Amino acid sequence: MKRHVFSTAAFSGALIAAASFATPAVAQERFITIGTGGQTGVYYVVGQSICRLVNRLEDANIKCNAPSTGGSVANINGIKSGELDMGVAQSDVQYQAYNGTGNFEGEPYEELRAVFRVHGEPLTLLARADSGIETLDDLEGKRVNIGNPGSGQRNTMEVVMGAKGWTEDTFSLASQLDAAEQAAALADNNVDAMVYVVGHPNGSIQEATTTVDARLIPLNDEDIQGIVDEYPYYSASVIPGGLYRGNDEDVETFGVAATFVTTAEADEDIIYQTVKAVFDNFDRFKRLHPAFENLNPEEMVTQGLSAPLHEGAARYYREQGWIE
Ligand code: GLU
Repeated sequence: MKRHVFSTAAFSGALIAAASFATPAVAQERFITIGTGGQTGVYYVVGQSICRLVNRLEDANIKCNAPSTGGSVANINGIKSGELDMGVAQSDVQYQAYNGTGNFEGEPYEELRAVFRVHGEPLTLLARADSGIETLDDLEGKRVNIGNPGSGQRNTMEVVMGAKGWTEDTFSLASQLDAAEQAAALADNNVDAMVYVVGHPNGSIQEATTTVDARLIPLNDEDIQGIVDEYPYYSASVIPGGLYRGNDEDVETFGVAATFVTTAEADEDIIYQTVKAVFDNFDRFKRLHPAFENLNPEEMVTQGLSAPLHEGAARYYREQGWIE
C-alpha cells in the first residue's frame, strides 16, 4: 500500500515535470504570416509551398500561414505595418520600395530585406480574340483591366502607361479588378483585355484561355525597349508557346522576377529556419509548381534582389557557400 502511494506520488511528480517541460514549448510556438496574391496566381502557391515546408520542421515550432492578398505592393505595405512577416513581391516593386521611387516616391522603406528570388514573371497581356487587339497600342479606346491598386501588375502597367503617355482615360474602361476576378471578366465580355505580371503556366491565364478565345499580345515595341533600357530591374522576356489553348507561338514581352521579402525586424532564427526549410527540401519545393522548374538556389540568392539580404537568410547561404 505504502509502496503504491509512493509510486503514485512519483508518477504525479513525473507528470508535473512533463507538464513544466511542455508549457514553455507551447508558449514558444511562433506564428508567421506570408503575403501572397490572388488564388489563381503563382504567389499563392509560393506562400503555401513555403508554409508547407516550414510547418514540417520538427523542432522549430513555427506555424506558418499564407493567405491570399492584393499582391506585391499590398504585401510590402503589410510587412511595413506589421500585419505580415514576409511576402512575395515583384523585383521592380522591391527596388522601388527600398529606394523610395515609383509608387513609393519619397518614402524609402529602408528596413525592407530580401530573402530570395523566385520565378520569372513576364508582363502578360491577354486580349479577347474578338476585341481587335493585336498590339499594345490597340488598347487605346478598349476596356482594359489595369489591376487592383496594391497589385504588382497595376504598378508595372502604370510604368507602361507612363512610357506611352497614357492615362486611364486612354481606355474606354479602366477596371481595377483583382487578379483572381479578371479571367471571368474577360470570358464574360466585361473587359477586352487583362494585364497580369505572373509566372507561367498559371491558373488565371489557363482559366481565361479555356473559357474564351483569347490571345497573348506582344509587348516589344520601342517604348517597351525604352523601359527595359532605362530600369535595371526590367528585362526582355518570352512567354513560351504551347502553354495555353490558342497560343502556340512564343510571345515577346518584358518582365521582372518574383522575390521573397521581409523586414530587418523579423527574427533572425525564423528567417533562417524558413530558408532552411525551402533549400533543404529544394526538390520537393520545385515540384510544387511548374513555374519553379528551372530554379537554381545559387541564382535565387544572388540575382534580382535590390534590398540587402536578411541576416537570417545570409547566415544559411554562407553556410552553404552560396555567398561570401
Ligand atoms: N505579380 C503579381 C503581383 O505582384 C502577382 C502574381 C501572382 O500572384 O503570381 O501582384
